[in-house]
Amino acid sequence: MGSPPAIFFSGARFSVLGVRPCKNLNPQAGARATEPAKTIKFMSASSTTVTSSANCWSCSAATGGAHFCPACGKIQPLQRGADYFIFFGVPQKLTVDLGILEERFHSLSWKLHPDHFARASENERQLSLDLSSQLNDAYRTLRDPVARVEYLLSLAGMRKEGQKKQQAPPELLEEVFELNESLDELREARASGGNAAQMPGLRAKLESAQRKFESSLADVDQELARVSADWDAALDSSADEAARKKLMERMNEVLNRRSYIRNLVNSVRQELVTGDQ
Ligand SMILES: [Zn+2]
Repeated sequence: MGSPPAIFFSGARFSVLGVRPCKNLNPQAGARATEPAKTIKFMSASSTTVTSSANCWSCSAATGGAHFCPACGKIQPLQRGADYFIFFGVPQKLTVDLGILEERFHSLSWKLHPDHFARASENERQLSLDLSSQLNDAYRTLRDPVARVEYLLSLAGMRKEGQKKQQAPPELLEEVFELNESLDELREARASGGNAAQMPGLRAKLESAQRKFESSLADVDQELARVSADWDAALDSSADEAARKKLMERMNEVLNRRSYIRNLVNSVRQELVTGDQ
């Protein structure tokens, strides 16, 4: 989850803070590159549609951004600037109806499955492979509330894992300090052949630290849920760019804190498992 998720077509990035048509064209849309810029609507609470003048590559009917041409039924390439939300036809919000998402995933998996294109043209076979792989990536990302936030931030170029990621959150400083001490003691005890009398006490300390960090992780997940809800509310009320940017910065900060705490939980868990062996 560290690296930004791949966006469908190389270079097809756009800003979710302000609509900015991508400079790099989708190679598959090359033939239509001379058309007037498409109007793409993002971040509107009521609309998930990409207003597009895309036409079917086979019969030229308007596709309205559908995966299959409404006129001839042929599989269509993804539109320029389409993101995972658009792929699924869900609002670009952080509250996602998982039931709808799953239903569409299964339906699209079936429709896009390469087996259906075994006797189709090379172009259609390739489209089915590409779209199926994008479908899986999109589903994996959108069904997970943390990955969803990371994705939204990376679309906007707002996901920043800097030095702050390495810093202990202030409210955990003391616990982190104590944990490091316990870990040092434990390793020393092990290195010196293991002082049997000392081990249970150290282990208990680690277990207590683990409970503390797991509870902090639950807290930070709740905070992420809160800021996600605030984001959706900001979209609903058409909040200005500054307000949205502020929310994104908050999301980024919560994600960094989460990542720090999750690493702590994992390292304590690892240490306890090693002790069991
Ligand atoms: Zn068609």
